[in-house]
Amino acid sequence: MKKVKYLIVGAGVSGLTFANYVKNDYLIIEKESRIGGYCKTNYKNGFVWDYAGHFFHFKTDEFKNKFVNDVDSSDIIKQEKCTKIYYHGDYIDFPFQTNIHQLEKQEFIDCLYDLFNKAEKKKYDNFLDMLYGKFGVSIVEKFLRPYNEKLYAVDLRKLDKDAMGRFFPYANKEDIINNMKKNNVKSYNNQFLYPKNGAGSFMEILYNNLDKDKVLVDVEVTSVNVSKKVAMLSNGDEINYEFLINTSPLNNFLNILNQQKFKKLSDELSYNKVLVFNLGFNKKSKLDKEHWIYIPEKKYNFYRLGFYDNILNSDKLSMYVEIGYGKDDLVDVDKQLELTLDNLKEIGIVDIDMKLEAYESIIMDPAYVHINSVTDKKIKKFMDKIKDSNIYSIGRYGGWTYCSMEDCMVVAKELAEKLEG
Ligand SMILES: Cc1cc2nc3c(=O)[nH]c(=O)nc-3n(C[C@H](O)[C@H](O)[C@H](O)COP(=O)(O)OP(=O)(O)OC[C@H]3O[C@@H](n4cnc5c(N)ncnc54)[C@H](O)[C@@H]3O)c2cc1C
Repeated sequence: MKKVKYLIVGAGVSGLTFANYVKNDYLIIEKESRIGGYCKTNYKNGFVWDYAGHFFHFKTDEFKNKFVNDVDSSDIIKQEKCTKIYYHGDYIDFPFQTNIHQLEKQEFIDCLYDLFNKAEKKKYDNFLDMLYGKFGVSIVEKFLRPYNEKLYAVDLRKLDKDAMGRFFPYANKEDIINNMKKNNVKSYNNQFLYPKNGAGSFMEILYNNLDKDKVLVDVEVTSVNVSKKVAMLSNGDEINYEFLINTSPLNNFLNILNQQKFKKLSDELSYNKVLVFNLGFNKKSKLDKEHWIYIPEKKYNFYRLGFYDNILNSDKLSMYVEIGYGKDDLVDVDKQLELTLDNLKEIGIVDIDMKLEAYESIIMDPAYVHINSVTDKKIKKFMDKIKDSNIYSIGRYGGWTYCSMEDCMVVAKELAEKLEG
């Protein structure tokens, strides 16, 4: 039986980063035919498409330099983000809560009045409770509630008050009033980098630093014998590991550990799926500067649309469309494509002269994990327990968290350095 020090499940950004920070004795097993996980790029009819928008908002120079030092600077685009909300036939700036002054007068008055009369609490029970307490009824019911319900596809009372962590654009009354005269809202993603060849090209850089013979694609880890430290693969091989580093989604990983108590936890985990359409048209739309827009109204099937052509300065509309589903919902791709094209026409992004030249669909399953304190406690207990058997589960889905690609890299690097000693 083959032996390896680090057996890494998954060649997404987490698995690739981990391998970049350990010495030679590793093996990555990736079930797909290509590396990159959710950070992959597809090229079709001249269009460059990711798995929904994947932009880099670096906080640390170390990871930024890892990428930018490896490619010609002209191949990297730096953008000040331009994002809007499509609201009742018009556009206002994102986030909604700090741009209520852009609404028509009565709506603005409602939001402002409710903001000053909100029932703030010391302690919030859940995400929805927190939204009402911090922003008041109108801001919540006009944007925060419908948008997040479309995205998470779950009752928002089932999410933790901090379910979105640092990704939630908090703002107090002062911020909201000050923003009426001067845009001063800072967010984690005011600027972003994007490689001209798509986000996946950065993953190739991580991959190229590795020994390719130690990255097996098209092979799946199908089960793990925890006590013997042996992983069974879909090609029939068995690997004896010293450390198992899982980056595959925790809901699946819990099942391949073959223990009833872990399967039970898997069933309890809640998350959404996102259907993504990448669409390429023969000419640009009237939106020529927006990078992505938010669509809270439930009559439209999508919750977010992104514009690669405005990021890459290209002359044909190249966009992604995101549609949220509950974990058990069936996805009818053909029906959604038809609805999407109709809705894009209705909101004026596509007109009758525009022809769809290419498209593809991707289902991200899971996409956003539903963070709640009850399952969080159980997950933590599970993570502590498997550590005793030299198993670590990291990454956005392995760690069952809400984080960016860079966050995944930070955790993977720290774990590699800790285990290398
Ligand atoms: C809609 C959406 C938009 C996003 N946009 C951004 C963004 O703009 N910027 C940003 O920083 N982040 C973004 N993210 C988050 C980003 O996608 C993740 O943080 C990151 O890609 C997670 O990487 P990972 O390696 O942890 O997991 P993954 O990318 O999921 O990699 C896990 C790998 O494990 C493999 N695998 C699974 N099971 C097995 C098995 N049994 N055996 C072998 N291999 C297996 C999978 O095929 C996959 O390649 C977005 C996420 C979503 C859902």
